[in-house]
Amino acid sequence: FCAATRTFHSLRPSAELPPDSLPATAAAYAFSILSSPLPDRPALVDAATGIAVSYPSFLAAVRSLAGGLWSVLGLRPGDVALVVSPSRIDVPIIDFALMSIGAVVSPANPASTAEEYAHMVALSRPVVALVAPEVAAKLPRNLRCVVIGSDEYKGLSSAGGAAPPPPVAVKQSDTAAVLYSSGTTGRIKAAAVSHRNLIAVLCAHRDNRAIADKEAAEAGQEPLPPTVTLFPLPLFHVFGFMMVLRSVAMGETAVLMDRFDFIAALRAIERYRVTLLPAAPPVLVAMIKSEEARRRDLSSLIVIGIGGAPLGREVAERFAAIFPNIELVQGYGLTETSGSAASTVGPDECKAYGSVGKLASHLEAKIVNPSTGEALGPGQRGELWVRGPVVMKGKRAFLILKQHGYVGDYEATAATVDSEGWLKTGDLCYFNEDGFLYIVDRLKELIKYKGYQVPPAELEHILNSHPDIIDAAVIPYPDEDVGQVPMAFIVRKPGSNLTEQQVMDFVAKQVAPYKKVRRVAFVSAIPKSPAGKILRRELVEQAVSMVTSK
Ligand code: AMP
Repeated sequence: FCAATRTFHSLRPSAELPPDSLPATAAAYAFSILSSPLPDRPALVDAATGIAVSYPSFLAAVRSLAGGLWSVLGLRPGDVALVVSPSRIDVPIIDFALMSIGAVVSPANPASTAEEYAHMVALSRPVVALVAPEVAAKLPRNLRCVVIGSDEYKGLSSAGGAAPPPPVAVKQSDTAAVLYSSGTTGRIKAAAVSHRNLIAVLCAHRDNRAIADKEAAEAGQEPLPPTVTLFPLPLFHVFGFMMVLRSVAMGETAVLMDRFDFIAALRAIERYRVTLLPAAPPVLVAMIKSEEARRRDLSSLIVIGIGGAPLGREVAERFAAIFPNIELVQGYGLTETSGSAASTVGPDECKAYGSVGKLASHLEAKIVNPSTGEALGPGQRGELWVRGPVVMKGKRAFLILKQHGYVGDYEATAATVDSEGWLKTGDLCYFNEDGFLYIVDRLKELIKYKGYQVPPAELEHILNSHPDIIDAAVIPYPDEDVGQVPMAFIVRKPGSNLTEQQVMDFVAKQVAPYKKVRRVAFVSAIPKSPAGKILRRELVEQAVSMVTSK
């Protein structure tokens, strides 16, 4: 902590970032750190079928598809491609192929509704969508769609064998991916992440691995086996998207699951000797409660990387007591930090339960009093601001080149990343004297259901469109198994006998399943500030006391 500037600096060794001026896509950078000769293990495995893709085949598939995207589809640097599919082997191939020609990957949740896709498309303006067969019918008619696995797709995938794409002049500051996030306000936005952002995350991963290897050597332990990562994580969310990039760059094996199923995940850990499981906190709760998890041979599993939502100290301790040989690595990040902004590294830091670890290398942070704007010191709570190479570009870059920040949304960009590059996370946090970061609460209007983002304003907008509803507010209701569930407070029209079930059904028809309202309470008025802002904290307290007084 520097008292003069009231800024916290990363305590991690500074990773060697390639110079800014070097033209490079994140894909080219990942391939440049991939070991040579190529690793003699699968790059990708499909958990359900066991189909595996070796590194030479993966690279050939990426190159060939890139050629097809360039010459047949005519994609050029800066063109956005929507990618909508469950986590299948094609997805990383598509992501790498798009990035390698400077096109922008925009991964979206395959469970979204037609209205949700229409909204995403309006924000990111893709020129094409590469989609799984079961999703195609939900996409807007006027968007060119290529169905993954179709003859057209096969044509694209083989076209580049004969005509590989020419070298492209892509700057690191150009956009690599556009990820959907609601940020600190309730509506969905398209966050532009640059090649530079992704390269910086990859550097940090590489260094963390080097630290872990060194610590193991110093402790006289056997060298760590090559990492095999299981992906119950969706590949459209920043956590899964980044972890696949990392897996390929480090020459590791990624085992993909088409959809999350806890028992299938346990089976996959056993079958593929998985060593790393990145997951959201509900997976730990499920493991604690599961008899099956105790029966299975999980001896290959060295690390569970937990992130995306808060992990209670008590859950971590319970887990450690039952599974003492599995190290719990905690990580904290946002879509707008391209993944990890802080994490624990090595067995000692992992025991700091309740903390999300230390700031990632090259990052600076401030803890800012939300009411006065004053920057605070260690031990004091305030909003976390972060700045560094993994942070999405802000206001200034948006004005110069409109593709930065939240695409097409200057107001939201300016409110989130200031002209000095500070990203306001919307999380209430503090650092202790040793540089460990603690997330205390969420100041922003965001519900996290199993680590997925549920923006309350979107659900309120739907509820307010119901003819029998006068006013509505949606809040996060605490739930041990899934983190939080969306709960709706509803003011009915006088005389209406709308039921809880009818409210839930009305929303369920219009949103992806993870956004469903799962609790309803009828009230006479929604508490609001004089400026008309919903007093959510008051409603959360009311909801919790309603249950405890029952
Ligand atoms: P997303 O952009 O979906 O990754 O959501 C980012 C938000 O998730 C953060 O601003 C936090 O509110 C929350 N979050 C992510 N990781 C953690 C964590 N380890 N502990 C607490 N909250 C987290």
